[in-house]
Amino acid sequence: MTISIVGIGLIGGSLAITLKENGFAHRIIGVDTSQENLEKAIRRRLIDESMRLEAALEASDIVMLSTPVDAMKELLPWLLDRVDQQIIMDVGSTKEQLLKLVARHPKRGRFVATHPMAGTEYSGPEAAIPNLFDDKCTVLVDTEMCDTDALEKIENLYRSIPMRIVTLDSKSHDIHTAYVSHISHISSFALALTVLAKEKDEDRIFELASGGFSSTVRLAKSSPDMWAPIFRQNRDNVLDVLDEHINQLARFRSLLIKKDFEQFYELMKEANQIKKIIK
Ligand code: NAP
Repeated sequence: MTISIVGIGLIGGSLAITLKENGFAHRIIGVDTSQENLEKAIRRRLIDESMRLEAALEASDIVMLSTPVDAMKELLPWLLDRVDQQIIMDVGSTKEQLLKLVARHPKRGRFVATHPMAGTEYSGPEAAIPNLFDDKCTVLVDTEMCDTDALEKIENLYRSIPMRIVTLDSKSHDIHTAYVSHISHISSFALALTVLAKEKDEDRIFELASGGFSSTVRLAKSSPDMWAPIFRQNRDNVLDVLDEHINQLARFRSLLIKKDFEQFYELMKEANQIKKIIK
């Protein structure tokens, strides 16, 4: 199986390592706007060779889009206009806008929309790591629109890792990812800005930073190039959950102002319920 990976960064590169190691792919082609990233990917053996997009499509069984989600809105229609029996898939973090864009394309069935739910705060081919996706969950979206053979092959790709497969429609996907992923990034970006504004002495932050601060602020190291297009595409769902988050912060603030530490304690106890869902 030959797989082309368009956007050979953290996610594309990590999938490249796994799919080559487990034998699902025998040849990986890299396509990227950055020549430097392609050279790094070859040096790190993430890809066997690099090509331009048109040649890569001709040479491949599967073309995987792993660029930021705004670039996918140009790449996907371009690929579907030229695809024959190959399969196009993506790994993007938002789905509704992209899927609406190609809903009536005559080759829509060759496209399988996916979102592997794993990542780190780092980006680029240097950030690619093996085993990033092992035993994690991947979402397959609007699968009823896919040709049967295309869907089967992409399910097999994820099972080979192995990953658990969940299916969702594109609207639900974008709502749920706003809750479990997108809001935590805004919250972490805001926390980093809060501490940077209050604590001018960077050495002090470094000295005093404990496990708690480091883990809550970790996501603030994430790339704005990758995240800005996600917030643009999922604006309405993110605004909805952000309003709820601001309400919750305001509840804590108001109890502190009132010195109502009993209720403050109760709120924290209520928040502990998350342990039932996430160990
Ligand atoms: P990344 O490390 O920044 O990699 C993206 C790569 O795509 C970079 O090499 C970038 O080059 C390249 N690129 C940008 N525009 C391109 C274009 N038009 N054509 C070809 N290559 C292009 O980002 P990532 O974290 O792997 O994210 C990739 C995708 O996975 C995104 O859609 C994201 O939503 C999704 N995703 C991310 C995570 C996560 O936690 N990071 C998890 C699941 C899914 P430059 O660096 O030169 O721009």
